Amino acid sequence: MLRISYHGASAMDLGYLLKKNPHRAQVFELSWGRAYVFYPEVGQECTTVALALEIDPIDLARGKVGSNHGGLFDYVNDRPYASSSFMSTAIAKVFGTAMTGRGDDHQALADSALDLTAEVTMLPCRGEQAMLNRVFEPLGYAVSFESFAADEQFPAWGESAYVNLTIRGQVRLRDLLKHLYVLIPVFDRQKHYWVGPDEVEKLLRIGEDWLADHPEKGYITGRYLARRRSLVNLAFERLASANAVDGEVLVTEPDPTDDPPRITLNEHRLSAVMAALKNSTAKRVIDLGCGEGNLLKLLAKDTRFTQVTGVDVSHVELERAARGLNLDRAPERVRERVTLLQGSLTYKDARFANYDAACLVEVIEHLDPSRLAALERVVFEFARPALVILTTPNREYNSNYDHILPNGLRHSDHRFEWTRAQFQAWATRVGEAHRYEVTFEPVGEIDEVHGAPTQMGVFSLC
Ligand code: SAH
Repeated sequence: MLRISYHGASAMDLGYLLKKNPHRAQVFELSWGRAYVFYPEVGQECTTVALALEIDPIDLARGKVGSNHGGLFDYVNDRPYASSSFMSTAIAKVFGTAMTGRGDDHQALADSALDLTAEVTMLPCRGEQAMLNRVFEPLGYAVSFESFAADEQFPAWGESAYVNLTIRGQVRLRDLLKHLYVLIPVFDRQKHYWVGPDEVEKLLRIGEDWLADHPEKGYITGRYLARRRSLVNLAFERLASANAVDGEVLVTEPDPTDDPPRITLNEHRLSAVMAALKNSTAKRVIDLGCGEGNLLKLLAKDTRFTQVTGVDVSHVELERAARGLNLDRAPERVRERVTLLQGSLTYKDARFANYDAACLVEVIEHLDPSRLAALERVVFEFARPALVILTTPNREYNSNYDHILPNGLRHSDHRFEWTRAQFQAWATRVGEAHRYEVTFEPVGEIDEVHGAPTQMGVFSLC
């Protein structure tokens, strides 16, 4: 949530400047959710407008927003309550006119520096609180923030990664909006959209009046462009030429701490599974618990796989998969190769037999532990493909997620999550019982202590 307050004799005119009626709450539909605008306070001395977002974390994870390979976010994400790049896009959408500086009947006020305060709730700011001052103070704001214990019941967990930030200064409304637009994602770091070259243009346009002279322009530019080195260099070159009078030389040596472009965990997982399949001679592949068909899409595109079948217990998921695969409109040769089946993995099913490989990607943890023995027989005894590729969360890694409580799980539908030892013990026993050899692979960015977020077992029939 973002609140902007205007203190001053014409405080009531904030509604004119923002072109939003103070006496009416408004809802804006955005591609990823909703933005609500309302005025908690309308007064002669102070008027406050609030911009609140409603975001469905499940939609984000499923990929309504973002990439081709499902969502940009894991099921566990802080997006619904953190101030993030979603807030920036909402600012642009809802207060776009005010951001351009157009004030119409109130142009003089729009062009004046006003006593404005912005409160940004739940701004992710992992240990970088000092940067709040260094980024906002040079722009003329007094900065204060409130930080919290991650959980008051458990002081040992330390400080939360989030702060409630308040900045107050004498600025034009358009400048405040532009500062927030750029700087919220600088602190948040996770963009909900792919950062490409057009982001450089956007940054330079919105930062036109203030970025070139900012003492932290390197930090801001690097973060805003998600640290993509080529884009950061491009932005620096342009900022330097805009500022050539300074005679300043910008050093743009590659930074060894640069983050590589972000690959989501979902993408890591799909590519690990695809690599294991391509590493084998499998041609006929069945995806058990295919969900909305992210893996099926990749399999369908690769003609080495002559038969691709997706199974799920959920009709809704199968319908999504059919839509995602465009099965209605696909040419005959694609439709011949790709089949969707409704079925359960805990009942023996002749349709699952005669495949070279079966994949179970993030499926077993959705089953009650008491049903696992049934799944084990259905897959390893009855279907019995030469290769089984199975992934499941590594519970140990959960402590790297800020928003999972100790002992919490990543998704409300998970019935359990296993440590590496638990998964390996189960898989080894299953392999021995059914004569499969099993190897294990970490998937995703590896944490030295807790391992990777996802664990993969590859079972090969002896
Ligand atoms: N493999 C997909 C989906 C994972 S979510 C992906 O990686 O995106 C788990 C899926 O398993 C859901 O779609 C759920 O409907 C399905 N599922 C859960 N229990 C099942 C069962 N007993 N039989 C078949 N599918 C099941």
